[in-house]
Amino acid sequence: MEALVLEQKGVLSLREIDLPLELGPDDVKIRINTVGVCGSDVHYYTHGAIGPFVLREPMVLGHEAAGTVVEVGENVQTLAVGDRVCMEPGIPNLSSRASKLGIYNVDPSVRFWATPPIHGVLTPFVVHPAAFTYKLPDNVSFAEGAMVEPFAIGMQAAARARISPGDVAVVIGCGPIGIMVALAALAGGCSRVYVSDFSADKLAIAGRYQGIIPVNIGERALKDVVHADTDGWGADVVFEASGSPKAYNGLFDLVRPGGALVMVGLPVDPVTFDVSGAIAKEVRIETVFRYANIFDRALQLIASGKVDLKPLITDTFNFNDSIKAFERAASARPTDVKLQILMEGEGN
Ligand code: ZN
Repeated sequence: MEALVLEQKGVLSLREIDLPLELGPDDVKIRINTVGVCGSDVHYYTHGAIGPFVLREPMVLGHEAAGTVVEVGENVQTLAVGDRVCMEPGIPNLSSRASKLGIYNVDPSVRFWATPPIHGVLTPFVVHPAAFTYKLPDNVSFAEGAMVEPFAIGMQAAARARISPGDVAVVIGCGPIGIMVALAALAGGCSRVYVSDFSADKLAIAGRYQGIIPVNIGERALKDVVHADTDGWGADVVFEASGSPKAYNGLFDLVRPGGALVMVGLPVDPVTFDVSGAIAKEVRIETVFRYANIFDRALQLIASGKVDLKPLITDTFNFNDSIKAFERAASARPTDVKLQILMEGEGN
């Protein structure tokens, strides 16, 4: 099949590649419609590795996908040919201890699309377990379906925060994941969410959503804004979504006593932070790695109209132009939130 292949760091090609397409009894075969370009795909392209995951042989990119079921395995009861679906890109071992505990996202044996050596889905067809394939509600487009994966990370963060109705939250970092976290926090009951960044362009996009208050930290200290607006008490929840070590300086000044810090952004190198600052306020610290048991609920929220991800889709490229899409993504325009790739001959 033709696919977008990352040959080695910095080298992409659209070419034929052998990909397994045997349909097991619990699998479905999906014709891919839309694939989002993710920061991790771009990072493999520009750096050839993310932490311990190192590209050693050519790999197909793409893991944020939606499409149409074209074939179902003999045991599959929940899906039928013609169903529009999106897919969870990680396939855990269902017999693993992590899966049995419901934390299959941290199953050490999970096979995750476009994470070396597992191929991604920038290719016309894929075979996937029905258990990790989710039917799109009729009013959810393929483009929105391909946004469920990054939104699920925001949902996982909001779930970890254990938000109470009316909570005030802070999100550090206004990249695609920061915005997803802010939208999930609002959907989860936050009354308002401060989102901080240095980029006025990124903040302007986030600030279009009701309930999000952009804070340009090139102009104002985040701590000053949060303290002024909370009578010096601090935010109920702080989400770290930038991955920048600098974000950890003075981080606990932002959190109210007994509040929560949720770490979402993945720093490249080890980070030190103020342990006594956290202990003095008895801050609850949570971490987020991907998501588990989130996709169906994310789809329900999108279908309800409570969360609108469409304004975050900046541009759509045809599959034939997918190398251009990656070059554009690697150039990191601050006005680009999500770029998507539409497979040939598909309508959105
Ligand atoms: Zn992603």
